[in-house]
Amino acid sequence: MKKEIPYKIYLEEQEMPKAWYNVRADMKKKPAPLLNPETLKPITVKELSGIFCEELAKQELDDVTPYFDIPEEIRNFYRMYRPSPLVRAYCLEEKLETPAHIYYKFEGNNTSGSHKLNSAIAQAYYAKRQGLRGVTTETGAGQWGTALSMACAYLGLDCQVYMVKCSYEQKPFRREVMRTYGANVTPSPSMTTEVGRRINAQFPGTSGSLGCAISEAVEAAMGQEGYRYVLGSVLNQVLLHQSVIGLETKAALDKYGIKADTIIGCAGGGSNLGGLISPFAGQMLKGEADYEIIAVEPASCPSLTRGVYAYDFCDTGKVCPLSKMYTLGSSFIPSANHSGGLRYHGMSSTVSELYDQGLLIARSVEQTEVFKAAQMFAKVEGILPAPESSHAIKVAVDEALKCRETGEERTIVFGLTGTGYFDMVAYQKFNDGQMSDYIPTEEELEKSFAALPHIPV
Ligand SMILES: *Cc1c(COP(=O)(O)O)cnc(C)c1O
Repeated sequence: MKKEIPYKIYLEEQEMPKAWYNVRADMKKKPAPLLNPETLKPITVKELSGIFCEELAKQELDDVTPYFDIPEEIRNFYRMYRPSPLVRAYCLEEKLETPAHIYYKFEGNNTSGSHKLNSAIAQAYYAKRQGLRGVTTETGAGQWGTALSMACAYLGLDCQVYMVKCSYEQKPFRREVMRTYGANVTPSPSMTTEVGRRINAQFPGTSGSLGCAISEAVEAAMGQEGYRYVLGSVLNQVLLHQSVIGLETKAALDKYGIKADTIIGCAGGGSNLGGLISPFAGQMLKGEADYEIIAVEPASCPSLTRGVYAYDFCDTGKVCPLSKMYTLGSSFIPSANHSGGLRYHGMSSTVSELYDQGLLIARSVEQTEVFKAAQMFAKVEGILPAPESSHAIKVAVDEALKCRETGEERTIVFGLTGTGYFDMVAYQKFNDGQMSDYIPTEEELEKSFAALPHIPV
């Protein structure tokens, strides 16, 4: 008999995962290997260790080890804000008059306001353990930079952040949170790196992009003794760390004997989605269970729904390894009017491969609709969601409304990745009725596809 489900399912501290789960280990067809941009051969741990910390380079390339122990120091940090609650959205269900059961895994309950802290602390920990002085990174909307500054401050590491220029200007408060935690924040493209100067010359007045900020951060790391580059999404290591989201979600559902039918996550670089779905996708790969998994992306940056599956550069400056992924092309710069942090041109190679194998489906949504769903959610569930997370809300609502039509009692689980307190410029645009939905044209996409590297496979 089912126990009564509380509004919030909290795991006990001792039920927190002790190991991260690497879904690649259970994939028969693995994600394509990262390639060295110069030799076009699969990159080695040794080569990758020039950019990343050694342990992280190993995690990045390991597609056979299913579980990685979470070091006790990282678990101690997790204890400050984890386990995160799995919330039964009773109020939303009532508002939608749906027979569906809706749950969301809330990752916004920490100062950085998102799931990114789960990987930030892991990456900072391995950098510290290697005896490094500091790390460099990029940040788009600012959540990753904030999370990394918190993690670095905790461990006493220097933190240098290249922040996409439009966010630097739109989100001064995020910038100040990072500086409060001791990080050094530079708007990107800047004039402090070679690649920044080149991009500024090529695209005068550009509001920047993640791909471009990545190039700057990599250059900065390579140019300083005792520094490595860290990245908050896209990479396999990040998905690995974010599996803590999915493992906790699964443990909470199992605790109450709940079986999810549909699992929904927003997809920027794919890390929260990849982390949320990992244990469930693992079951699917082993033939143990079946789920409908939906990745939601913005119509303005539709890498899964309109991109191509090909090797591409991860950054605008073409200094990072090449990754086979669903991509819009590394020269694609999404319109500045898009307010979410889902502006990356590519997608995690693991999520891309799972998508290609048909384990998940993808949907793109327009931002005005996303903000309508966000506002409704804020009113009924009491949490002001991040615009990124609201993409998942929008599709969860759509699915729940379908159930109202069919009378089906589906169990829908979605990832609520963060809070939107620092996204008030976007909410202001929405409230003023000035939000537009910019969708790239076929011509624009063709132009950036034409610039994809030609890799013989
Ligand atoms: C960064 C971010 C995302 C998107 O990144 P993924 O790597 O795709 O998870 C989603 N939600 C929030 C709140 C974020 O900060």
